[in-house]
Amino acid sequence: MGLIIHPEKVNDKTAAAVLSLCPFGALDYENGILSVNSGCRNCRMCVRKGPEGLMTWEEEKKTEVFDPSSWRGVAVFAEERDGRIHPVTLELLGKARELAAVISHPVYALLIGSGGEPLARELLHYGADKVFLYDNPSLGRFTVSPYAAAFTDFISKIRPSSILVGATNLGRSLAPRVAARCGTGLTADCTVLQMKENTDLVQIRPAFGGNIMAQIVTPRTRPQFCTVRYKVFSPPGRSEAECGEIVRMAVTPDMKRSGTEILEVREKPREIDISEAETIVAFGRGVSKESDIAMIRELADLLGAQLAGTRPTVEAGWTDPRRQIGLSGRTVKPKLILTVGISGSVQFAAGMKNSDCIIAINSDPNAGIFDIAHLGIVGDLYEIVPMLISKIREAKHV
Ligand SMILES: Cc1cc2nc3c(=O)[nH]c(=O)nc-3n(C[C@H](O)[C@H](O)[C@H](O)COP(=O)(O)OP(=O)(O)OC[C@H]3O[C@@H](n4cnc5c(N)ncnc54)[C@H](O)[C@@H]3O)c2cc1C
Repeated sequence: MGLIIHPEKVNDKTAAAVLSLCPFGALDYENGILSVNSGCRNCRMCVRKGPEGLMTWEEEKKTEVFDPSSWRGVAVFAEERDGRIHPVTLELLGKARELAAVISHPVYALLIGSGGEPLARELLHYGADKVFLYDNPSLGRFTVSPYAAAFTDFISKIRPSSILVGATNLGRSLAPRVAARCGTGLTADCTVLQMKENTDLVQIRPAFGGNIMAQIVTPRTRPQFCTVRYKVFSPPGRSEAECGEIVRMAVTPDMKRSGTEILEVREKPREIDISEAETIVAFGRGVSKESDIAMIRELADLLGAQLAGTRPTVEAGWTDPRRQIGLSGRTVKPKLILTVGISGSVQFAAGMKNSDCIIAINSDPNAGIFDIAHLGIVGDLYEIVPMLISKIREAKHV
């Protein structure tokens, strides 16, 4: 189904005409044979503007019975940058193991890059049964078309039932393109994933501004495709033994061709990243004026913590947007988070409720934050914070 080439119409002239039309270089002509490669994005320019009758488009006939059992495995896209695996990959491998155990499927990792063998080996310590490696110097830096071509090739050859991708900038750029090429859906920013025994993946994410948790299932298409933010799941421990194997995949010409040429790579100054913080002090609208933030900052400094805020404090211009926690901000999972004057809305909690230890200060004993806090302090922050500061100073002799 899809693009059909009519061989009786193929000759040097018609082939040259259609090749020059394709914006993605997705057509090959060799020894009198015209073919479509995995660079094709189904734009159908060749059908609309090419020589008449040379190529046609056929809609998929939905007569065949969909057979999910022909799709096997829970795959994780392993994001590599500058020779390092992004930690979200390990979190997803841990989750993939859990999901795969329900249906007795293998766990796969897909690694695309250059000189990736040592990283592929490392993934075998984190629960991947097989690491599929597309390794070529041309894949050393991420550009979307070659990566999408390799990813699509992996899906068509290995047919994994579910695929998890980190919702990083790279993952957010790559996953939708690959899902569209495979004619399947994509659920972005899942916060919970559950596997049904029939291999349907229940992809759960906040919807309508976080007021409901939507359960998204795609029972009639495979692969089931989702992205998950960094710090939503916990990474598994590293096993001493390498359990599994590396499968080297052939890198074809379309995986080397890119419309983007990287001229220069400039290092950006390291940005504030509260997602990485081990300790956070977050404040909300309970802080009544901007100058009072100094007191919260002092507490954060004493604890060696990053300062963060709720959305209203960002909207008031008191907090850098990169320090906003929540649904429309960052997801954090520190060892300790102290919330000060924060009500605990669903949108805020979505970004921090998986933290190891949550301590909340709020004057309202019925505030929602106490539902998720491990320790609650009911009282006025203007009394409690100075008290904490003086106790910590005392203990630290500063
Ligand atoms: C689509 C959408 C996305 C959103 N995304 C986010 C997001 O990413 N992050 C986010 O934070 N919000 C987000 N919001 C906003 C969210 O709904 C809440 O409005 C917000 O989280 C409330 O912030 P707050 O807790 O600072 O303020 P409030 O809800 O006003 O809470 C202030 C709290 O301070 C307490 N308090 C007051 N005075 C004192 C005192 N002296 N001592 C101790 N406690 C005191 C009060 O009891 C109250 O509980 C989003 C909303 C929508 C619709």
